[in-house]
Amino acid sequence: MSAVLVADPLQPVPLVTKFEGLAITFVIETYARLLLAGAALIPAALIGYMFFFQDPSLKFENHAFHVIAIAVATLEGLFVCYVTWCCYRSSGEPLLRWMTLSFLGFTLIYALHGAFTGLAHRNIWLFLFYGPASRLVMAILLFISLLSFYRPPDAVVRRVKLRPWLTWIGLFLVADLAVAYLANSPIAGNPAVRLSMEGGALVLSSVNVTLILLRRIRSPLMVIFTISVTAFALSSLAFVLAKPWNHMWWLAHAIFAAGFFLLSFGVVRAFLTTRSFSTIYSQEEMMARLAEARARTETVLGELRRTNETLEILAATDPLTGADNRRRFIEHVEMEFQRVGRGGAPFCVLALDLDHFKSVNDRYGHRVGDDVLREFVQTCISEIRPYDGVARVGGEEFMVLIPQTVLEAALVVAERLRIAVASASFQSGVQRLTGVTVSIGIAQSGSDGDTIDDILRVADERLYKAKHQGRNRVIAA
Ligand code: GH3
Ligand code: MG
Ligand code: MG
Repeated sequence: MSAVLVADPLQPVPLVTKFEGLAITFVIETYARLLLAGAALIPAALIGYMFFFQDPSLKFENHAFHVIAIAVATLEGLFVCYVTWCCYRSSGEPLLRWMTLSFLGFTLIYALHGAFTGLAHRNIWLFLFYGPASRLVMAILLFISLLSFYRPPDAVVRRVKLRPWLTWIGLFLVADLAVAYLANSPIAGNPAVRLSMEGGALVLSSVNVTLILLRRIRSPLMVIFTISVTAFALSSLAFVLAKPWNHMWWLAHAIFAAGFFLLSFGVVRAFLTTRSFSTIYSQEEMMARLAEARARTETVLGELRRTNETLEILAATDPLTGADNRRRFIEHVEMEFQRVGRGGAPFCVLALDLDHFKSVNDRYGHRVGDDVLREFVQTCISEIRPYDGVARVGGEEFMVLIPQTVLEAALVVAERLRIAVASASFQSGVQRLTGVTVSIGIAQSGSDGDTIDDILRVADERLYKAKHQGRNRVIAA
């Protein structure tokens, strides 16, 4: 027989032996890591290309383009800052708090780089310094972000406080003033000033990436974070190698923008999912968790099904004797009426009541009475066919349903039952009881009624007739 393969994404069909599977997985995982590293280092190839093959003196000095590009970057920066802030308020992750600040600081300082484009010739340092200063501030804050990766979430009261943010905005504005002061100071022309800012950003970003790799932080959003910070480091390297307006300078802008876009994509992913950077699971982890959750659900469902079956039995069973209860008996009689309605043979019901049962209780006690009731049910069951049902409908009152049987045949069954009870000896502990008897009334579907009420009433009437006639007997008419 050929097995039918149903596609199950949570349990892909293993293609090879376990060992081969592990080896292939290892190779593919390594390849995936190399791909990511390659993608992160593509800007380095561009920088190398520009460095070795382009005339570094070639320039594209277009002020309007620069202003527009930085205006767009500022709007983008504010937007990403807002989304990151939303994520932070939701998850309280310190990493997101620092990331929000890094976007905010970058935007508030970098905007002036665009705003002062027109001063490129009159006050070159005022125009230039805001670029490296913004990248340095961002690199510092992103580095602190990483350091706070494992910190527990901030308390909700802390997340909603506005004051710290205003303080930080104030600090960034002070940084703006400090840059202006530096640009107008005598040391502004010293190349070491710009280089130390750009170099500082380069070093911090590189240390950031190294730390992530050493700590083996591999959650999907942190992979994005790592590639972005690598781009920031490489953009700083390109700025170090660049001269204002030359192609390396523009390339440096582009590399930074690429890193920024990628990081903002990470923030957007966080916003659309868990609003946190650390609890986003990799697809592999998600699959494992899903499979685990499904296995758990199936186990619980199985238990539930078994519990339901038990409950159903309990709900339809008399707890003392294990016989069906009245509800279940009525259901069976209804089903029999339907069968008869479809042209089936008639059925009979027996109404049984133990004789002078009160005196059994009075003489031997209730416990013995209970045992007699239990054994009585067992006697009934052993005297009827497996598909005939015994139900306890009152204290010591029972009903037996005998499907597809006419009155004459039911009378035989009832007699057999009566004799079995009368001749039985009931055991209860050390007590042995004989002489327990039962009176029985019989009714047949059709001839005695076509509704449940009618047929039960007729069976009851005959039972009482049996009582009146002296008990321990069967009445069928
Ligand atoms: P009769 O022949 O007229 O049916 O007499 P009876 O004593 O059986 O009838 P009656 O209705 O007067 O008393 C029924 C007795 O059944 C009274 C009660 O103590 C007993 N009984 C009802 N339910 C239970 C039960 O769950 N356990 C025990 N041990 N006795 C029960
Ligand atoms: Mg009774
Ligand atoms: Mg009785």
